[in-house]
Formats: sequence, C-alpha cells, structure tokens
Amino acid sequence: MQFIFLGSPGAGKGTQASILAERWRIPHISTGDILRTAIANRTRLGIKAETYVKTGKLVPNSLITAMLRERFDEPDVEHGWILDGFPRTLVQDQILSDILAAYQQPCPQIVWFEVPVEALVVRMLDRGRQDGTEAIIRRRFQVYQDDTAPLLGFYEQQGRLIKVDGNRSPHHVTQSLENALLVNQHSQLVSV
Ligand code: AMP
Repeated sequence: MQFIFLGSPGAGKGTQASILAERWRIPHISTGDILRTAIANRTRLGIKAETYVKTGKLVPNSLITAMLRERFDEPDVEHGWILDGFPRTLVQDQILSDILAAYQQPCPQIVWFEVPVEALVVRMLDRGRQDGTEAIIRRRFQVYQDDTAPLLGFYEQQGRLIKVDGNRSPHHVTQSLENALLVNQHSQLVSV
C-alpha cells in the first residue's frame, strides 16, 4: 500500500489522499501540509521555505528532502503511505528512490488525477488559501506544466501510472480509487 498521488494543483489528490489514508489506516504524507505546518511553527526550515510557498515556487530540494527524511523516520510509515505533492520533478523522483531505498521501502504505484484545466482554475480560486491569488495560481499551474508534467511520461513508460478521471464528484473518485487500487495493486496500467 505505497502510493504517490500526482496531479495539477486543484486536481483533488489531497482530498482523496486524506480520505483513503484514513480508511486504510496509513499516513497521508503531504509535503504541502508539512511545509505549511513548518512555516506556521516558525521552524528553521519553515522560515527558509516561506517565500517559495507563498509565491507558488518550488521549495529547494535540500529543504524538502530534509523534511521528507524526517517523516520517513516515523514508525507509522511501516505498513504503507500515500505521498501527496512529492515528487514534483524528475530530480525529486531520484531523491525519493534514494530515500525509499535507505528506509527499505517498496517502490510505490503512481496515481495520476486527470482534470481539465478550466475545472482546475475554478477549484483553485474557491480554496481561499494564502497562495491562492490568481497570479500565484497561474504560477503554480506553470510550474506544474514545466516541472511536474514530464514525470507522467516517465512513469507511464515504466508501467507504473494509474490514471484516474478526477473530473467527477469526490465521492465517485473515492469509490473508483478504492476499487482499482486495492484490486490492481500489482497491475501494469489502469485507467479508473
Ligand atoms: P501543495 O499543497 O502540494 O500544492 O504545495 C504547496 C506549495 O508547497 C507548493 O506550491 C510549493 O511551494 C511547496 N511544495 C510542496 N511540495 C513540494 C515539493 N515536492 N517540492 C518543492 N516544493 C513543494
């Protein structure tokens, strides 16, 4: 039960990760949440990350890697996890592979949330977060297109990509994810 949830900002991966993690009793590891908490608590890493998060830029790898390593030090990751928001670049995929190897964790399956761009913008503007002004949302989409989207082809080639139609009600998405992920844990390629 090791999954990476991948998708554009607003695709619903965070919502689904939190629902399924609770149902399956495994941790939902959201790098965005880890960063927001670190910023709110004024930790050393949080202070360094603040400007990047507030302006919709990617936090430097050294910062996010340190936070992720700390998270994989916790005992609750032993029986599975859903990683949401990491990796966001090809370099981060390699960083994650190294972390997982160091912690003797299995190779995760990748779930990609497909949502048309018009639906994404509406969802993002509805959120009302501090990094939610229109200009910053646009930057986050651009960063996703430039840096994160190339990961999709990479994972697809490896036969690790499970595509989910995220343009449905949250309830429908949860249902199809539950069916597909539990049944097809070791399958090659599925669309749900
Ligand atoms: P999220 O909640 O996943 O949309 O993340 C919110 C913000 O946190 C992003 O816009 C980035 O500034 C930062 N962030 C989250 N995950 C990462 C990551 N893997 N690499 C770099 N920055 C990240």
